[in-house]
Amino acid sequence: MSAADAVTDSLENLRAQFVDVREGKPADYIPQLALADPDAFGLALVSMDGHRYSAGEAEVPFTLQSVSKPFIYALALSLLGLDEVSRWVGAEPSGEAFNAISLEPDTGRPANAMVNAGAIVTTALIPDAPGESAFDRILRCLGRFAGRELDVDEEVFSSESVTGDRNRALAYLIRSTGTMPVDPVLAVDRYFRQCATRVTAVDLATMAATLAYGGVNPVTGEEVVSAEVASRVLAVMATCGMYNGSGEWLLRVGLPAKSGVSGGLIAVGPARFGVATYSPPLDATGGSVRGHAALEAMSQRYGLHLMLNP
Ligand code: GLN
Repeated sequence: MSAADAVTDSLENLRAQFVDVREGKPADYIPQLALADPDAFGLALVSMDGHRYSAGEAEVPFTLQSVSKPFIYALALSLLGLDEVSRWVGAEPSGEAFNAISLEPDTGRPANAMVNAGAIVTTALIPDAPGESAFDRILRCLGRFAGRELDVDEEVFSSESVTGDRNRALAYLIRSTGTMPVDPVLAVDRYFRQCATRVTAVDLATMAATLAYGGVNPVTGEEVVSAEVASRVLAVMATCGMYNGSGEWLLRVGLPAKSGVSGGLIAVGPARFGVATYSPPLDATGGSVRGHAALEAMSQRYGLHLMLNP
């Protein structure tokens, strides 16, 4: 068997091992997400030479949701620099749920850019450019990470917009502490659009692989962000990417990762690969049950834990 066949084979095996897991259920607080097929289970891996491997429903479209957060943090770091971004959003694990109504007591900043509060601020920090709105800039940046033009699922966007009062409340709370750079309504609208950007597991694996490859998309060869920015994003993903499950994840899986409530999950093997899974049923932390199980098994099977196998 060729090395390429062996990678595809291992993704197929992981799929077979966990496809019958029945725990968890798709998110329903955004009504449109509850319509997702609970049986869909796709896996994809992109290597540093730009090869894309996949198994199962790896080309099924779904919305990015919180998997967008590290990439917009990368865009903000690229445009504004670490010191300026850090004035607005911290880098400490919150130990709380993704949608916690909570800000740092001393600074009034959101704890980090991976929780909703921090992501709303990060998104709000992106300035309009001449001839390009901030959101178009965001969408173009996500597309460069994915290696193709992406679009917004308008139904998921309006579904979240209609029901998204908690995030709106959070945005107003942030403004009250002086850490909201634009109008809260505008910030949340832009954030919901970013979350409703449509991708596949193959796109996500390419996005993760771009972070793994020092900010260069290994499929297109384009430098999307600098190596320094990519590394800083991975640092925050490692400590905060899985919300209140981040410590346990780093302990068991040992890779920077990010989950989203539509069922997408990415993990990064720095300088080695980007991997992604799609499976809508979620656990209590809002992460994909099958995705979590498959990536933990993959890490163990291939010795991918960064601290156990330096
Ligand atoms: N759009 C979702 C929200 O803000 C994203 C949450 C997530 O994926 N964890 O609630």
